[in-house]
Amino acid sequence: MGWLTSLSRRQLLWLALVSVIGLAIVAVGMVREKATVHRPPVAFTAAMTMKQIAPQLGVTGKSLARELGLPLDAPKNEPLTALGVTEDQLDDVAHHLAGHRESTLKYYVFVALVLFGLVFLVRLGRPDDSPAGERGMWYPRWPYIAVLSLSVALCGFALGKSPNPMEGTVKLFKSFIGLYPSVAEKVVLFLFFAALAVIGNKLICGWACPFGALQELAFSLPILRKLKRHKIPFAASNTVRCALFIVVLLLLFGIIGGQKGLVLYHFVNPFNLFNLDFESASIGITVFVTLALSLGTYRPFCQFICPFGLLSWLLERISLFRVRIDRERCTNCGACIRACPLQASSGRLAGKLLPADCFSCARCLRVCSEDAIAYGLVGRMHRAPVGKP
Ligand code: SF4
Ligand code: SF4
Repeated sequence: MGWLTSLSRRQLLWLALVSVIGLAIVAVGMVREKATVHRPPVAFTAAMTMKQIAPQLGVTGKSLARELGLPLDAPKNEPLTALGVTEDQLDDVAHHLAGHRESTLKYYVFVALVLFGLVFLVRLGRPDDSPAGERGMWYPRWPYIAVLSLSVALCGFALGKSPNPMEGTVKLFKSFIGLYPSVAEKVVLFLFFAALAVIGNKLICGWACPFGALQELAFSLPILRKLKRHKIPFAASNTVRCALFIVVLLLLFGIIGGQKGLVLYHFVNPFNLFNLDFESASIGITVFVTLALSLGTYRPFCQFICPFGLLSWLLERISLFRVRIDRERCTNCGACIRACPLQASSGRLAGKLLPADCFSCARCLRVCSEDAIAYGLVGRMHRAPVGKP
């Protein structure tokens, strides 16, 4: 709590302001959620056609056909029984698709968490006028852990799997082959998450994504410290992530396999955890293996698999707020490189055009004895007076 009592009056005002604004954003979300018209659940039967069922589930006939294991061009006007679909099969699919219904409130909670993360990193983490000698108390972990726990509880288990950044990306590409009634709606959904990644470097991933938060919390447990020092080479993890993304697109668009609509990510979608909907054994295995690996490896799902992780890594190049290094002060001592759980800090110091993902986790912001690192607006560098270490 030394950090909290060291904040200046101006910073306390910022803290109060961001808390009030965050709560107000969530309150607006609650009002909007209440006003959202939720259709009463409909009892579907296999005597109905896809044309009758699909709109009620918010998908197109093609998408329903895909979920039922039928070809995308299967007749949409025929009763499902005539296509060989059983009542049980339909029940499972209807239950699964209903779980994709988006919580309006969750968008607002995402915004509130990202806003808090941004203000914490830019304005609150370091008490005003605190010299580099006191850097041990800068950017304490507990506010970060509190936000991550809130994300898991609220954006995960309380509000369910949808929407989430990974799904926002996958649905965008699925909409291009007609699996959703509106492409524009999915473009807006993706742009929402992209904007939250651009405002502050990958802040939606680092501070608000519930599965990212679960991995971060597992990694934060004070165990396996020696293992955590070993970082996976970024070239290897990113090659796997890019290759998977390309294969997924080739299959989805039917360029390989000859049939459109197969989404490999569905088989490893860990966000199903938040609906307790393990539609295939591979999903349960993915969740279990990822969380087990996260005890010693930083965010393995984000590093190797997540398509939003990949696209937001590219978007980092245009993020407005991010970790900045004052090269005139940097002595290349390597403290920030050791503190970073990925190769982001080393890549940045080496001046690489495409360094590894930076999740805005703040670990590097408290270790520089030269006061050469800060989180700020691109082009602006915080500078404490020289000789105040
Ligand atoms: S990269 Fe990780 S944190 Fe970001 S959306 Fe994917 S799972 Fe979530
Ligand atoms: S420690 Fe690494 S991932 Fe975390 S903010 Fe610093 S550069 Fe980014």
